[in-house]
Amino acid sequence: MSPPKIAIIGGGPAGCMLGRFLSLSDIPFTIYESEADPNYRSQGGTLDLHQGTGLTAMKEAQLWDKFLEHARFDGDFFMMADKGLKPYIAVGPSNKLSERPEIDRAQLRRILIESLPKGAIKWGHRLKRVEDGNVLIFDDTIESGYDLIIGCEGGWSKVRSYITPAVKPEYTGVGYHRLRIPDAATTAPELHKIVNKGSVFSIANGQRLTMQQLGDGSLHVAWASTRPENWTQTCSYNPHNIEQVKKAILEEIEDWSPHLREAIEKTGDDICDPKNLYMLPVGWRWEHRCGATIIGDAAHLMAPFAGEGVNAAFDDARKLATAIIGVVKSGGGLDQLDKAIQTFEEEMFPRMRVYQQQTEEVTKLWFFSTGNMRDVVPKVMLTHAKAKLPAILHPLAWTAMNSYWFVKTRFLS
Ligand SMILES: Cc1cc2nc3c(=O)[nH]c(=O)nc-3n(C[C@H](O)[C@H](O)[C@H](O)COP(=O)(O)OP(=O)(O)OC[C@H]3O[C@@H](n4cnc5c(N)ncnc54)[C@H](O)[C@@H]3O)c2cc1C
Repeated sequence: MSPPKIAIIGGGPAGCMLGRFLSLSDIPFTIYESEADPNYRSQGGTLDLHQGTGLTAMKEAQLWDKFLEHARFDGDFFMMADKGLKPYIAVGPSNKLSERPEIDRAQLRRILIESLPKGAIKWGHRLKRVEDGNVLIFDDTIESGYDLIIGCEGGWSKVRSYITPAVKPEYTGVGYHRLRIPDAATTAPELHKIVNKGSVFSIANGQRLTMQQLGDGSLHVAWASTRPENWTQTCSYNPHNIEQVKKAILEEIEDWSPHLREAIEKTGDDICDPKNLYMLPVGWRWEHRCGATIIGDAAHLMAPFAGEGVNAAFDDARKLATAIIGVVKSGGGLDQLDKAIQTFEEEMFPRMRVYQQQTEEVTKLWFFSTGNMRDVVPKVMLTHAKAKLPAILHPLAWTAMNSYWFVKTRFLS
């Protein structure tokens, strides 16, 4: 039995990791990616990879040594603070190999792309739609004859529309601007010290300013706030003009700490990326469609506030690859392949639901809570803890978290 003909749509984390696993088992595939080239520079901030999902995938994909060349194990300093920069929580840096190492998105992308066989990615192929019989309609060409197409092309997946046209991402109510302070140690030394090689998140009701150290010495700065979905058309400034954007944000954070205002003042003019954040409905699932599936954001697009997206995408890629490799190695035919894909999807649905629920709750708590944000912090921490614990332990986690927060806020802060 010759191996199935496999098309992966999207050369992001999910698509490249899947390709990497297939290539390690000599299973041929083609990745179709809409971008014209790898474009490492535009890849944005930093990611922390987690034990059991992101890190496990990197190890099993035999990319651990490459990962270690770029990972920052001293990047786990983490401060959650109010708008006066008074910490709610500050942890690390731990410098422990067992923690959650950070890596720049750009470096992660480079590692993944360079790990693939030459020519595996067909750049400049934007999928417009899929027609019956797995016919792939790209902007400039049509490809067909694939036994399996795997949508890894993010939240606006066309393969998802082929499997089930009814489901669309929903606006979370939160928009954001991605900015950058180049060479922060020189251009913003105080901020550089405050960020302490890690991440600082300042939160007020409905607003959040993030500062994160990147491996190239710059600070990633993100300004997220609740906005109407059409804010980029209706706002009183040009959301792509950095000077106008800085002025608008500074007006919004007039009463924030001078250091946080400095984070906006010192941003360079090379990145000014406005975006809305969307998510797929929590717990949605689809009827299996023979010969097609989706993973990563295509299956479970989430807001970034629980930091699980890339980790979940890697986990999907690893598990889907295991299913495909198992069938191919045992000489199974397309029927067996289809059953294996269906079994993979059934395993993914409850797994992705946990992340989606966690993310939705955290997003609501941070951006849509009223009252004192100090009371919101333990609720967020509890939501994260619950996502990692079996339901039977949730009451215990509730008691532990609230007791801890009571003692911390009354006696330790
Ligand atoms: C602001 C922000 C911060 C985030 N921070 C974190 C974090 O700290 N930790 C974390 O784990 N996750 C984070 N995430 C989420 C994470 O980025 C995603 O979950 C992850 O990138 C999903 O990978 P993916 O491969 O499924 O999709 P994507 O990363 O979206 O990759 C999809 C790929 O498909 C290509 N593509 C798109 N459309 C087409 C098409 N029609 N035809 C062909 N190719 C196409 C794209 O160019 C891209 O290369 C964040 C997300 C955002 C927006």
